[in-house]
Order: sequence, then structure tokens, then C-alpha cells
Amino acid sequence: MSSSGEGPRWIAEKVSWQALLEEGLGRPVVLSWGKSRTSPVVFKDQGHQISLRLNRFFMDAPEEVARDLLAWARNGRRAKKACKRLDAWIAAAIQRLPPKPARALRLRTRGAVHDLEALTAPLIDGVFQSIYGKQFPPPALTWGRRMPRRARHTLRLGSFDRERRLIRIHPVLDQKNVPSWFVAFVLYHEILHDLVPDEEGGSRHHSRRFRELEAAHPDYERALRWEKRNVARLIRDARRLSRHEPDPLGRPYHPSAPMDRRTTAAIVIPRQHELF
Ligand SMILES: [Zn+2]
Repeated sequence: MSSSGEGPRWIAEKVSWQALLEEGLGRPVVLSWGKSRTSPVVFKDQGHQISLRLNRFFMDAPEEVARDLLAWARNGRRAKKACKRLDAWIAAAIQRLPPKPARALRLRTRGAVHDLEALTAPLIDGVFQSIYGKQFPPPALTWGRRMPRRARHTLRLGSFDRERRLIRIHPVLDQKNVPSWFVAFVLYHEILHDLVPDEEGGSRHHSRRFRELEAAHPDYERALRWEKRNVARLIRDARRLSRHEPDPLGRPYHPSAPMDRRTTAAIVIPRQHELF
């Protein structure tokens, strides 16, 4: 849609479509324009008048398409050739549409038990104080979504989306029997991903520098111990938690699925457990 004079052209197109349809159908036509991709044409015969809703891409349609649409409006699927051409034109027009804008991210930092914001605050105001500020705000945080039930042997407790600078924490950690210091450690790990660039080769998400910084955390040892003792239970809990809920970002997000390597990170520790 050109930015110059959408209004006038809209009206102009609307008038010509309207005239063409009314003339062809011999009845008043209430014409409206929409954006639906699933129902680009909605035709209702209301007896005394016809209501027709067309996707806006019909505004740019050549006259042959308008004639085919008219043939379909008059004769339905019996207008075989017209329907075939129309279907093809609609399919191509839908394909040319720009991708749907991603739905706004709904970030949820307050869990039932743990508050990610509160757990991150001491880090942002403490060890990372000199790094984050107005110019470079800390990454966004959210609890991840529950995903479809499926057999799983790995669990990704947290992930960092580099493109969005977004940390997701697995909802399985939002439980009373998960200590808050452990959740805080997972957050610390993910924040490090924001600060330490990935390296090519080997363990590119967890470079030596990354590992050094991670190990500098006072809870490092006990976090690894706690994880080791509890990972089996967490995996079981995650399975129980699972239910189908589409990802709000429209991209696959599954704790145990290999995620987009460009934007996410996962620790893989011995025994094939993806940690965070
Ligand atoms: Zn990681």
C-alpha cells in the first residue's frame, strides 16, 4: 500500500468496485474492506442487498479479477474457470503480504513463588552495577511458557534470546521446593550471556571467559550440586506442568528442543542434561 494518498485511492477503488458489483448483481452491495487472510472474501446474500467484505488487497486487483469475483458472486463454484483464476490470484496476493507483525511480548516476571525482577535486582545493583544503566539497560525477563507434553530427558532451565535481549526462565522453577538462590543463579548465568559474546567452535555459548565468570558466583558450587540432585525431579515436574500453549512469539520455544543457535544458549553438561 503506497503511503501517498491511501485515502483518495481507497475511495476511488471502493466506488469502482461498488459500481461494478451493483451493476453486475443488480442489487445494492454493502462493500467493506478488511485485513483477514483466512477469509479474504466474505459474501452474504441478504435478499434485498448483498454484503461483501474483501481483503484490502483487492483494491489493487486488475479488472479481470473483479470480473472473476463477480462471476463467482453470481454463479458460485459453477463458474469454474473464474473460480480457479480467482483462487490463484488470492493465494498469490496473500503470499505477497508482509509477514504479520509479531504480537507484543507479554513479559511475566512475577511467578506464583518467585519474582524474577526481585531476584535480579541485587545482581543489577551489585555485581553488574557498572555495566547496566540508562544507556544499556539490563535484559528483559520473563517466565517461559508451558509447552506440550512430550517425553523429555533434558530440561532447559533458562535461555537467553540475543535478538530480543530477553531471558526466559522455565516455569518449572516457579515452585516452593526450588530455592530462590538457585533461580537467582540461573538468572545470573543468563545475564552473563548478555555480556559475554559467543565464540565460534566448541562450546561457543560458554567460552572460557564465560565459565570463569560463572564460577565466580558465590553460589556456583552449590547451584551445580542442587541441580544435579534435583534435575530428575524437575524433568518429571516439567512433564506434569506441560500443556499446550502456543508460544507468544510465534517461534518454537521448547525447553528441550534445539533452539535457534544464533539467539539462544544452553549449557550442556555431562550426562546429556541441558542445564541452562
Ligand atoms: Zn548458558
